[in-house]
Amino acid sequence: MGLKVSDLNELILAMGAVIEENKAFLTELDSAIGDADHGINMAKGFRAVAEKIPTLAGSDAGTVLKTVGMTLVSTVGGASGPLYGTAFLRAGMKIGNKTELSANDLQQALAAALEGIKQRGRAEPGDKTIVDALEPALAALTEALAAGNGAAAALGSAVSAAENGVEYTKGIIARKGRASYLGERSLGHQDPGATSTYLILKTIEEFLTGRQ
Ligand code: ADP
Ligand code: MG
Repeated sequence: MGLKVSDLNELILAMGAVIEENKAFLTELDSAIGDADHGINMAKGFRAVAEKIPTLAGSDAGTVLKTVGMTLVSTVGGASGPLYGTAFLRAGMKIGNKTELSANDLQQALAAALEGIKQRGRAEPGDKTIVDALEPALAALTEALAAGNGAAAALGSAVSAAENGVEYTKGIIARKGRASYLGERSLGHQDPGATSTYLILKTIEEFLTGRQ
């Protein structure tokens, strides 16, 4: 796969662009079961991240990811800021001073990100959160890589699993975050955070596919 720091920076900017494109959609999803700000929160965070990217050209990949994490934690007010921030921070800690990432590094970074989100938010699968998209995506990625698939194809499996995870959140009651206040009324709606996770994973897949 061989993702250099310049590629990683480009990928992070691409994530921001996708979040920006889906800002209204994510906010609309959050208006059904939250406080109508998920798209606004994520876009604000990734805009601040985009401003930091030009300062990171000579950094290692771990520093880039940690800077993204710290920026999200410090600029996003909602629950999603600390959660996604922790995810990027943990990914950066795992990657350390590497300057080029392999498919295996990406898998390890996502595993660290998921662990961080679960620790920080105390959510388990079935709580109708980010975890319902990220956990099955990581499992699919891990399996696809173990089966010998290339990074882009393995990410494709991860994206399909995340999409199924988003669909699954429609049929479950929220047990974490603001949506949990709604109880049964959270049924029938897809989780905004699971949806943004799906979009971010899809951006990674498209980025890797485009480089093949
Ligand atoms: P807020 O809920 O503070 O308004 P956002 O609207 O930006 O923050 O984000 C809401 C999303 O955050 C939810 O859709 C859910 O996926 C995610 N979320 C909330 N609490 C948790 C948690 N404890 N663990 C994992 N994800 C969570
Ligand atoms: Mg919200």
